[in-house]
Amino acid sequence: MAQFLVGLTGGIGSGKSAAADHFSTHGVAVVDADVASRVVVEPGQPALSAIADHFGADILQADGSLDRAALRQKVFADAQQRQWLQQLLHPLISAYLREQISAAAAPYVLLVNPLLVESRQHHWCQRVLVIDAPESMQLSRTMARDNNSRQQVENIMRAQASREQRLAAADDVIVNDADLAQLHLKVDQQHQVYLSLSRRYATEKMC
Ligand code: ATP
Repeated sequence: MAQFLVGLTGGIGSGKSAAADHFSTHGVAVVDADVASRVVVEPGQPALSAIADHFGADILQADGSLDRAALRQKVFADAQQRQWLQQLLHPLISAYLREQISAAAAPYVLLVNPLLVESRQHHWCQRVLVIDAPESMQLSRTMARDNNSRQQVENIMRAQASREQRLAAADDVIVNDADLAQLHLKVDQQHQVYLSLSRRYATEKMC
């Protein structure tokens, strides 16, 4: 891809969205993998018909949109069905993301994906930025934001890559263990680094 691409990842409630929102105030283009995974199963998209054919029409809500909770239930305890779904959606999500990245007009693009490492999209990126927060803060922030129980959040944390696995893939780390003003300051500093790296990247591409 022609653009300088920064992959932004982190565990649940680490502060990815808060960091990405602040990067975007600097004019950085933000491409979000969670958005992509919703867009490819919107009504009218071929993936939704394939899912309804495979799992039955009761996977759809009355208005024809995907019943995400019902789908989660179907694949939760069934590795084979989960694999079927992943094989259907993964290429579609990748294609959508690549399209969005190519179309972005900005000094550089931020690809936000909680599963950046798991989906191997970190290989697309010139840099990988991990937002890292102590697990106790991930828990308390997510519980406060989503009104979830501790157990629910802990289950999600266990299903994600470990902190060590994410950090092993990181070129840069922002530790989000203080207030939002501190996070913004760190993002400001990191943005300056990416601006100069992206300029150098663009110059090298021209030569
Ligand atoms: P998810 O993976 O669940 O989408 P995330 O990594 O995008 O989460 P955010 O939604 O950015 O995390 O942050 C989780 C919650 O914690 C939000 O309500 C956010 O406003 C809050 N938060 C993030 N960073 C801080 C901070 N430094 N101080 C106070 N609150 C914060």
